[in-house]
Amino acid sequence: AELTAHQASMIEQRDRLLGPAYRLMYQKPLHFVRGEGVWLYDPDGRRYLDTYNNVVSLGHCHPDVVEAITKQVATLCTNTRYLHETILELADGLLSTVSGDLSHMMLTCSGSEANDLAYRIAKVRTGGTGIIITETAYHGITDTVSQFSPTLGEAVPLGAHVRTVKAPAAYRSGPNVADRFRRDVEAAIADLKRHGIKPAMLIVDSIFTSDGILPEEPGFLKGAVEAIRDAGGIFVADEVQPGFGRTGNHMWGFQRHGVDPDIVTLGKPMGNGQPIAGLLTRHDVVEKFGRSSRYFNTFAGNTVSCAAAVAVLQVIRRDKIMDNAREVGAYLLEKVSALRSRHECMGHVRGAGLFVAADINAEKAMQISSGALTASVVNAMRDDGVLISACGEDHNILKIRPPLIFTRDNVDHFVEVLDKALEASTR
Ligand code: PMP
Repeated sequence: AELTAHQASMIEQRDRLLGPAYRLMYQKPLHFVRGEGVWLYDPDGRRYLDTYNNVVSLGHCHPDVVEAITKQVATLCTNTRYLHETILELADGLLSTVSGDLSHMMLTCSGSEANDLAYRIAKVRTGGTGIIITETAYHGITDTVSQFSPTLGEAVPLGAHVRTVKAPAAYRSGPNVADRFRRDVEAAIADLKRHGIKPAMLIVDSIFTSDGILPEEPGFLKGAVEAIRDAGGIFVADEVQPGFGRTGNHMWGFQRHGVDPDIVTLGKPMGNGQPIAGLLTRHDVVEKFGRSSRYFNTFAGNTVSCAAAVAVLQVIRRDKIMDNAREVGAYLLEKVSALRSRHECMGHVRGAGLFVAADINAEKAMQISSGALTASVVNAMRDDGVLISACGEDHNILKIRPPLIFTRDNVDHFVEVLDKALEASTR
């Protein structure tokens, strides 16, 4: 469908009113007026299958979350300076999903703020400032965090205290990814020290989303975590993407690796769309920070956001959401992998639970880059009513990340549309 005059006018108004930093998705931007479950609806009532959903992870407008929010907002919306049960219920619920060493929860309004706070705590704890990240990492938008988020673009330089290491991509670099990752982290530590910088933290997204989604082999983080601790730094697991059950077998991505982070940062799906994020940490890690600085964040931990997050945890347990992520995720992985025999451009396919990636490689005979081919597939799917996106350094990796209530029928629909888009884009 072509853009209506109203939609064209909204684009012009956005540019005028919101300025130049905002981006829309898709060559033909989308306008939605309603969401329900795995579906988004445009003003004409046309529905789109949302396969790009890392926030409203229980599905759009989940009835239990809607009820929890509306009840609470009609009763009381206030902050963490008053006693209230819900924030305690949330802390108990979250802390029961991790090992007993992680005993405190702190709340923020966004994943960026959570990583910003994690770094402040790391600096006080370690007396260092050095940060190690992967090459194509994304951790957020504050001034501090943008200095360790290389995907924001070349115009946002990395901090002088930041070192990058290659993301551990077993399928590209061969086996022994754990050893290589450890050695790379050790080399980064040595380089920091050479420049007189004491390491504060290694921070990774434990499924390496913006590096191309790298789930294999489980356990490969162990050596690197040891290395940063040996150097006096701490390990921060950024669970904004893999957290809250997405990977199927575990509530948190780091648990696939059998490591114990010093800080776990949380965000996106935590309130199924409500702005609530935060971190879990050990007492000894945050003790000095807590003694030396008070922490108050006006909106963070407000009663309404907490009610949403408590409802999210309840639904994940009651509806066995992780089982669904595991089972339907395995089916999705199998069906997407099967497309490789039909499409030469389909490269490596990998995933964990309902987080699947597929490399797209333009053939030599084609006149376009792999990234341009991938963009063409993503836009063709959008025209056919299915939403996904791309990631990776060359933007040639399909990022498939549906809500965790996705069904086998949804997978069949998704794969049929992907198949057609690959056909149309390589014709
Ligand atoms: N960490 C990771 C791994 C993320 O993907 C994101 C958001 N894309 C963030 C942090 C930042 O979260 P927010 O946008 O809520 O600030």
